Amino acid sequence: MAKDPVCGMEVQEETAAGKSEYEGQTYYFCAPGCKAAFDKEPEKYLSGDDHSGHHHH
Ligand SMILES: [Zn+2]
Repeated sequence: MAKDPVCGMEVQEETAAGKSEYEGQTYYFCAPGCKAAFDKEPEKYLSGDDHSGHHHH
């Protein structure tokens, strides 16, 4: 199971309505609208997850 970063829904990779790659990670979406929203402003949806402000690569 993957998590749709836009709406927070759990999405199964095989049945996802769409997927996007961003910074080497693959994200799955429940609906084409979620993918479109993510593609437009991916950082808006990813930053909500992590408030530390530090990324370790
Ligand atoms: Zn969604």
